[in-house]
Amino acid sequence: MTSLVLDKIVKRFGSVDVIHGVDLDIRSGEFVVFVGPSGCGKSTLLRMIAGLESISEGRLTIGGQRMNERAAADRGIAMVFQSYALYPHMSVYKNMAFGLETIRMPKADIEVRVRKAAEILRLTELLDRKPRQLSGGQRQRVAIGRAIVREPDIFLFDEPLSNLDAELRVQTRVEIAKLHADLGATMIYVTHDQVEAMTLADRIVVLRAGRVEQFGRPLDIYNKPANRFVAGFIGSPK
Ligand code: ADP
Ligand code: MG
Repeated sequence: MTSLVLDKIVKRFGSVDVIHGVDLDIRSGEFVVFVGPSGCGKSTLLRMIAGLESISEGRLTIGGQRMNERAAADRGIAMVFQSYALYPHMSVYKNMAFGLETIRMPKADIEVRVRKAAEILRLTELLDRKPRQLSGGQRQRVAIGRAIVREPDIFLFDEPLSNLDAELRVQTRVEIAKLHADLGATMIYVTHDQVEAMTLADRIVVLRAGRVEQFGRPLDIYNKPANRFVAGFIGSPK
């Protein structure tokens, strides 16, 4: 089980601070949503947690261990991006298997994992297709499948639904909630969509300009916003 602690995390690009000392304590198995306007630092925070971006100051602890230079896979983390970034020339099966092949997992074990993920995501009939033969929703499921086969302790999602149309967004949101219920993994999910945040989160982190404005349960934030920015953003009654 894997908790995460962010302790006074700062991110500086050149001489500009974009994350200003963020403290967060995320429990094992929790579904936490980072929400806030474009440019507030959601992706940067996620990328630091994944180890894709260095941390300028502060401490990141995952599962009780302080993180320094370890890569996402070694941290037990898998990330799902907004742009699906599937390999166009590879089949659905191969897209999901590829990451495991690069770490030299035996073929039979890879097949077990890919088939299991395909079943969870209703992709079993589509394993031989190429990405261009899939709908947007199916492609996004393949991208999620690539994360699932790694069996990570922590899933990071960066606006995974923003390229989908409204109906598919709702459908995929429900699937992600079910995935969390089934796998029990810790999930951190970035969105600028208040509805997604309210419906998915155990707790929401409201960010503005690199600072945490509020961290709490959806209804508590809705009923007792810390300030007018949070109230406006979450849509609390005036
Ligand atoms: P969000 O995901 O909330 O839209 P980001 O984390 O992408 O926000 O960006 C936060 C801030 O950091 C923005 O002002 C952005 O311009 C800046 N930023 C992000 N990445 C870089 C980078 N590689 N170099 C310089 N500035 C960056
Ligand atoms: Mg972003």
